[in-house]
Amino acid sequence: MRLIFELSKEGKEGFFVKNEDGEIRLPEELIRQEIDELPEVSEREVVSHYLRLSVMNYSVDWGFYPLGSCTMKYNPKVNELVASLFTDAHPLLPEELVQGYLRIFKELEEVLCEITGLDAFTLSPSAGAHGEFAGITIIKNYLEAKGENREVVLIPDSAHGTNPASSALAGYKAVEIPSDEHGRIDLEKFKEALSDRVAALMITNPNTLGIFESNIRKIADLLHEKGAFLYMDGANMNAFLGKVKVSDLGVDVMHLNLHKTFSTPHGGGGPGSGPVGVVKTLEPHLPGPRLVEEKGKLRWVQGEGRIRSFYGNFLVLVKALAYIRELGGRGLKEVAELAVLNANYLRAKLSKKYRISYETPTLHEFVLTDDTFRDKVSTLDVAKRLLDYGLHPPTIYFPLIVHGALMIEPTETESKETLDEFVNAMLKIAEEAETNPELLHEAPHVTPVRRLDEVGAARNPILRYIKPE
Ligand SMILES: *Cc1c(COP(=O)(O)O)cnc(C)c1O
Repeated sequence: MRLIFELSKEGKEGFFVKNEDGEIRLPEELIRQEIDELPEVSEREVVSHYLRLSVMNYSVDWGFYPLGSCTMKYNPKVNELVASLFTDAHPLLPEELVQGYLRIFKELEEVLCEITGLDAFTLSPSAGAHGEFAGITIIKNYLEAKGENREVVLIPDSAHGTNPASSALAGYKAVEIPSDEHGRIDLEKFKEALSDRVAALMITNPNTLGIFESNIRKIADLLHEKGAFLYMDGANMNAFLGKVKVSDLGVDVMHLNLHKTFSTPHGGGGPGSGPVGVVKTLEPHLPGPRLVEEKGKLRWVQGEGRIRSFYGNFLVLVKALAYIRELGGRGLKEVAELAVLNANYLRAKLSKKYRISYETPTLHEFVLTDDTFRDKVSTLDVAKRLLDYGLHPPTIYFPLIVHGALMIEPTETESKETLDEFVNAMLKIAEEAETNPELLHEAPHVTPVRRLDEVGAARNPILRYIKPE
């Protein structure tokens, strides 16, 4: 496909704002005479160009997207419709004119407390990692207010990569705790690392292997004995929505990814939302603004610090509340049950030809290793070959603790037919790896572009078109 610059032809115009005499009907000051190198194309060409580009891409609405850890699920369109009803208020409007809008924030805070068992939520953070940073900073501010300057945050090696990054940004030293042979935290190593220099343990649960940390209550108790906190990364919440309240597990702080679990698509650069919930002790340290209710009226008060402008990504919050209320308690539970069922269906089917990294039962995702095909093809080859079958590949080479990992998360929204299509493609690929590895080395064969130099593109992006001489 050609670049829009290559479609350009001198003198072509893409808009119709001229009168009968050919004069442009725009105020003089808005008319620029010369813009170097801007493509000159017709409106029709612009529309075709971008529409074609859009259909060359893959998306959650296009098809199956089993990208482990990412929860790339289908999101019901009715919630977009609901959100579209709330687009006309400016964030600077006086509170008395937007009581209904404020009620949405309030209700969402309340249902998130209900779902998690935590005592208070801030809806400000714009993403999961932003929530992690806010959550760890809340712990830090609490400890510092008590005169304690702890330096360390413990992080299992099966955690999501953002966890150590957020701890470091918040000013802590991230110390890694290895996993045991079952893919859970090594309790002995954890106990060795635990001291009164530790501010928190940050745990992704279920972890990036899809394994539930069954010792989490014990871990929480050990932390609390040392005056440290348990931070749980709740981005994998669709694995046990409605099944467990994290407060019962001893969790003190947790973020949720509304743009994964609660009806906003994840990816594409946002907007997202990563609300943070805390136990009562930490509530005074939630970032502002905080909502308070007096005589039935809601208003904002400044809390401790602020982590973004205004009040969070409001329309993402609207969609989450609409989704939660549509599903209700039973529906949310069903989300978790289906997410786990779908993942375990794939795990059972694929384990006939691929090796599962850990025998431990998994919830909403699982990880394959490259053990069975390593001498013939690479994990990357398998992933690229899936593109030829019209399917998005799983996450690859992550988590790092699994050699040649393929991390598969089907989510709850896919039908058995779709799962079977994926299974068939994966089994066929396993066969091709035996009989015709060359086919995989050169895959994909049918996509608009083949193997790209992603690292080169990220390190040396070419952002400006330079016309060939
Ligand atoms: C996606 C994810 C995050 C980060 O969320 P972002 O919104 O992408 O910042 C953190 N932890 C886990 C387990 C995740 O899956």
